[in-house]
Amino acid sequence: MSEANPAPDRDTPNGSRVSVVPLRASSVAANYRLRLPGPTEVPERIRWAGARPMINHRGPEFREIMGQTAEMLRPVFGSTGPVLVFASSGTGVMEAALSNTLRKGDRMLALIHGQWGEQFRAIGNSLGIEVDTLAAEWGEPIDNAVIAEQLRLREYRVVAVTHNESSTGIVVDLAALGAMVRDTPTLLVADSISGVAGIEMKQDEWGVDIVLGASQKALMCPPGLGLVSLSAKAVAAVSAEDAPAPYYLSFRRGLAAAEKGETSFTPPVNLVACLHEALGMIHEEGLGRVLDRHRALSTALRSGGEAIGLRGFGNPATLSSTVVVFKAPDGIDGGAIVRGMYERFRTVIAGSRNRLSGKIIRIGTMGAITQQTIMTDLTQLEAVLQGLGFGPKQAQTVATAG
Ligand SMILES: *Cc1c(COP(=O)(O)O)cnc(C)c1O
Repeated sequence: MSEANPAPDRDTPNGSRVSVVPLRASSVAANYRLRLPGPTEVPERIRWAGARPMINHRGPEFREIMGQTAEMLRPVFGSTGPVLVFASSGTGVMEAALSNTLRKGDRMLALIHGQWGEQFRAIGNSLGIEVDTLAAEWGEPIDNAVIAEQLRLREYRVVAVTHNESSTGIVVDLAALGAMVRDTPTLLVADSISGVAGIEMKQDEWGVDIVLGASQKALMCPPGLGLVSLSAKAVAAVSAEDAPAPYYLSFRRGLAAAEKGETSFTPPVNLVACLHEALGMIHEEGLGRVLDRHRALSTALRSGGEAIGLRGFGNPATLSSTVVVFKAPDGIDGGAIVRGMYERFRTVIAGSRNRLSGKIIRIGTMGAITQQTIMTDLTQLEAVLQGLGFGPKQAQTVATAG
């Protein structure tokens, strides 16, 4: 079993040979730090929860886990309504939010202030939906007066918005948007995939009809679960006789299954167990404290970053608590900072894969992070920046982050 002797190649009946490399010998370094705005580090407690023996997904043991998971999810969404769990990444439930509410030729309004808003438009187009858009400069929220005016001009079945835009680090005011559609037939769909469990979400109070989440962001789980929280108005819309009827990611089917504490099709049972454990951790710490911790640590990372000479990206009035975005200093490519963090420290942060490519770096401040996490981020960032020829200011870093 020695790792010094790699397993020999194995013959297959297809005439090919495969080499079987044990997973423990794969190449994740001991000091590897996952600091992306998703997926995020999965705490050991949650990893173990996913290592339980398999159980029947239609039996009482699973129904108990699923029922408790839904119960613990509701306050995280600020909802008293149903929360559906799908085997899907975040994009899958973004598509489902549109395919369950809109038919080909129906009209939606996409509010776009970053990459994920662009994705709503692209999904709408792929479904044959008529997509009108209101865009803001990336890093700025969209002007509510402009949105209100557009809603007066035209009736929309759906308004889709990115609550927490991970590509720019900006949060929008969902309460204001909810107030605009509350007494109308229009459904407000919010992608809070990188927000839920890391920033405040008050679905019922704000009047948001469909809120989307995913397991691999502030919920600290492996990727694979898409979450959908529905208002009473959304339930009525997707349950109507003439509602669109997608097959696999059907909300109507999901609602019927959820009534029984089940999911429509075979769920990723072990990921649901992970989510159950993660929600237990969140409620043990206290949801309010979890959100406060996200706010405090993202603020600490921002001010520490400024102390080493980095400038923040985006409108300061609307900054996210789950992702911190810095501008790459003049003359330094953002990608070089990302590479430097990985090559020197095996710390994985994000650059940008869109129009901001090279211009910004992004660090996740969601999930199981502590003050120590932020201190390490800053120490390593400073060293990498210095290596790239950007001035040293060590003393201040530690003072500000502490
Ligand atoms: C991560 C993310 C998504 C979904 O990404 P998937 O890779 O499909 O899980 C969608 N919207 C936002 C805001 C995100 O941060």
